Amino acid sequence: MDICNLHEDLNVVFHDSLHELSYSSDFELLIKLILSPRANENKVNQIGNLLISKFPNIYDLNNANFLSVKKIVKPIGYYHQKSLRLKNACDFIISQCRGKIPKKYNDLIQIPGIGDKCAKKYLSLINKDDYIIIDAHLIRVLTRLELISPNSSYVQIENFIKSNLKNSNYTDFSNLLNLFGKKLCKSRKPECTKCPFKNFCNFFN
Ligand code: SF4
Repeated sequence: MDICNLHEDLNVVFHDSLHELSYSSDFELLIKLILSPRANENKVNQIGNLLISKFPNIYDLNNANFLSVKKIVKPIGYYHQKSLRLKNACDFIISQCRGKIPKKYNDLIQIPGIGDKCAKKYLSLINKDDYIIIDAHLIRVLTRLELISPNSSYVQIENFIKSNLKNSNYTDFSNLLNLFGKKLCKSRKPECTKCPFKNFCNFFN
């Protein structure tokens, strides 16, 4: 299957279902991205909004009692780890970045709890930078469609996408693959009978 056709078809089928996080400041966005792993956007928006209403800025959240933060984050899952990441990130940004969230990738990933995916997602929204955002969903879908081999490294996946996706809208493509992987091409029990790509899929045939 051609990767440009895959992008176009995903756009047709899933574009209206893409839900971005709601945010009105870089601080709010960062908080919600830290809350995001293994959680759906609605829950992240809900818990993130609650956190922001209690701790409106980075200094408030840094000074907040850890147990109070954990109590708010608890419904989202992995709450201890995520609460710790929130506190550590605030502490680092205040102590090392004068309270300002960095706007460059290499600076962002120095923040505890901010990895490659979180940093790229943040910059794609704040700076409108165009990134290939690799995650387990993207890898699974491209592997099942035999566009990449199962053992491909991140660099090989990036090179493959960059050399084949002509319109270069990498962030959009990454987000669509992420959504497709969550909704249809799930890790366990993919919904292949509903899939528009089943005729091209080795996993299904
Ligand atoms: S046919 Fe099934 S395994 Fe293949 S891409 Fe579609 S959902 Fe995924």
